[in-house]
Amino acid sequence: MEIPLEHSPKNVWEVYSRQEDQSSIESFSQNYIDFLSKCKTERETVKWVKDNLEQSGCEESPSSSLFMRTDKAKTILMARKGRRALEQGVRLIGAHADSPRLDLKQHPLYESCDLALAKTHYYGGIRKYQWLSRPLALHGVIVRADGSPIEIDLGEESEDPVFVIADLLPHLASKQNEQKLSEAFEAEKLNVILGNRPLEGGSEQDNGQEGNKKFKKRILQLLRSKYELIEEDLYSAELQIVPAGQARTVGLDASLIGGYGQDDRSCVFSAFQAFIQEDDPEYTQVIIFWDKEEIGSEGATGAKSFFLEYTLQDLIKTWQPNTSLSEVFQNTKALSADVHGALDPDYQDLHDLLNTSKLGYGPVLCKYTGHRGKVGANDARAEYVAWLRNLLNQADIPWQMAELGKVDQGGGGTVAKFLAMYGMDIIDFGPGVLGMHSPFEITSKADIYTTYMAFRQFLRS
Ligand code: MN
Ligand code: MN
Repeated sequence: MEIPLEHSPKNVWEVYSRQEDQSSIESFSQNYIDFLSKCKTERETVKWVKDNLEQSGCEESPSSSLFMRTDKAKTILMARKGRRALEQGVRLIGAHADSPRLDLKQHPLYESCDLALAKTHYYGGIRKYQWLSRPLALHGVIVRADGSPIEIDLGEESEDPVFVIADLLPHLASKQNEQKLSEAFEAEKLNVILGNRPLEGGSEQDNGQEGNKKFKKRILQLLRSKYELIEEDLYSAELQIVPAGQARTVGLDASLIGGYGQDDRSCVFSAFQAFIQEDDPEYTQVIIFWDKEEIGSEGATGAKSFFLEYTLQDLIKTWQPNTSLSEVFQNTKALSADVHGALDPDYQDLHDLLNTSKLGYGPVLCKYTGHRGKVGANDARAEYVAWLRNLLNQADIPWQMAELGKVDQGGGGTVAKFLAMYGMDIIDFGPGVLGMHSPFEITSKADIYTTYMAFRQFLRS
């Protein structure tokens, strides 16, 4: 076949046009939608992955050639021993399981105007107005002083109550309408409504005159009777407000997926499924799902921590003692599996149309991220990009090469630069998303499926 002079990305639906491919895309998407609906926090995601790994025979002892380790229930690493020696490097995929949301503050509960409310502190990059006047769910954990945890998952079942942050009515919004968007919605007004009933049957002191917090106390009474919790327990809690409800198929042609947390659980799901399928590797496979990417990969469970390094040291000790860890790292090929901002039809002016990505054209390779002159970027070397595109072309998997938006319009970062520090080759790679960081992010079924196919190809290379 003659090679065309110009390169243009291929549409996945046209490449995967056979009936069996289309049904594979659909069934993969349905499983993904189910996963998204169940896993709304990093802890829930890590637990889901761990449970599924256990069913596949994965063990927590490094003596197993199919190994997994969790870190504080928020980060998980899995590895499968390959035929080649470890010093030849591993095939590593890193994604993140945390998503932007509203965390309850440590002193959340108060009352105002006879409503019980909870204060929040947002986590990650959100557009605040998107969280108003919509059903919200409460997920997380509260740990009592004796160490016993209470798992909370409220607002997902049809019989559950949901929560809400009331938006201002348009009738009284004329002043707000004149404000700048960045000033019109204040973080301290992202307060979640919990109730509107006063305490019943309290003591004289609890239930006396006005201003004695009987609406807040009613909530505390419910927490005590339902969960045996006291107010102080809320200090040792991680409670997250997330959009309530299921992920859904979107579009008349059912080609899209809408749901919360697709940044970056689309890559978590695709990489996990690829890992399960590719069970006889040439190179050792390592998959890691981090926490804290959305706030800069900080902390003990983020990509800046030493969890990956410590765990690989332990694997080397058992699998192949006396191997140099630096050699393993420097010969490693890695994907920073994360979503990309796809071209938005309504905001095309923010993209360089020559260097943007579109939904439906497969996973996006992003050679560099960063902002204002590539500051803070990982920049994959040309040799590695060549290797990767050849790998995908050989397998006839559609892909596209893009930047996030126009130069100087903004920018962003991923875990890539924290892994690049070890000297491994790494590039940002993942499906495009519309409405990224919103409560209902949009992806293409075609892109989720080809991201999975690409991960498989990578893990078997
Ligand atoms: Mn991400
Ligand atoms: Mn993000």
